[in-house]
Amino acid sequence: MKIIRLIKEMSNFSCLSRQKGKTIGFIPTMGALHAGHLSLIRCARKENDLVVVSIFVNPSQFGPKEDFKKYPRNLKKDADLCKNEGVDVIFYPLVTGIYPAGFKTYVEVKELSDMLCAKSRPGHFKGVATVVTKLFNIVLPDTAYFGQKDAQQAVIIKRVVMDLNLAVRIKVMPIIREKDGLAMSSRNAYLDKKERKSAAVLYMGLKKAEGLIKKGAVNPQYIIRRMKNIIEKERAVKIDYISIVDAEDLRPLKRIKGKILLALAVRIGKVRLIDNLIING
Ligand code: AMP
Repeated sequence: MKIIRLIKEMSNFSCLSRQKGKTIGFIPTMGALHAGHLSLIRCARKENDLVVVSIFVNPSQFGPKEDFKKYPRNLKKDADLCKNEGVDVIFYPLVTGIYPAGFKTYVEVKELSDMLCAKSRPGHFKGVATVVTKLFNIVLPDTAYFGQKDAQQAVIIKRVVMDLNLAVRIKVMPIIREKDGLAMSSRNAYLDKKERKSAAVLYMGLKKAEGLIKKGAVNPQYIIRRMKNIIEKERAVKIDYISIVDAEDLRPLKRIKGKILLALAVRIGKVRLIDNLIING
């Protein structure tokens, strides 16, 4: 397994590999890898000749008061995990490589980048769309793998690929969860024991909503109220938002119909967690 730091070297590797007819599967990450990331890597490993994982804590997607500086970083552990999964290349660029002096061009996706998580993280998706577009142009993947965990991100990336005619296939993989249902996340490591225990209510709330919808509930406000009742029982958990939107275009829904995305974000102490469920209403 190679660890490549220079953009030129990564580009050359990808160009040469594609000239030889090899397919490239790509998983963009911020590192601190867990079973969620590994599920994407395993799928890529099955479907491609070469697998590239990028590890880049992208400063442009963090707000000034967010956790960019303290975001968990552990290249040695990540590299061991990647090696174990048969990854061919870790692309581990420098911030000054991705954003050299004079950098001025950003990718902005209208509307989709202003709703849901963007309300408390303004500018976040502009940073995500920009870095992912740059990574696609450097790594030249045939297929890029994303997690349903970041549902809004997946919708936005698909939009970017369509709107900018990027030659990459996007595959979105299911959320990998802990035993009690908590979605795996690098940020779970910030939770203390008590907070970690209370975080289980997120999945309980989502499953409650799913049950109500399966029984025929169609009013989003009613469902959200019932979810709030469950989640707010844990005093440490502060709801940022709970929304029911169309799963394909994130349009808010007045009535449950078709494939819906039930998305939420909460704060537990200083930690912001997101989760979601796709339900066929
Ligand atoms: P991150 O390192 O948080 O930027 O995540 C990198 C990729 O892994 C993103 O596409 C995430 O959606 C995906 N991912 C993160 N957590 C999970 C999870 N629990 N299950 C599935 N995919 C995940």
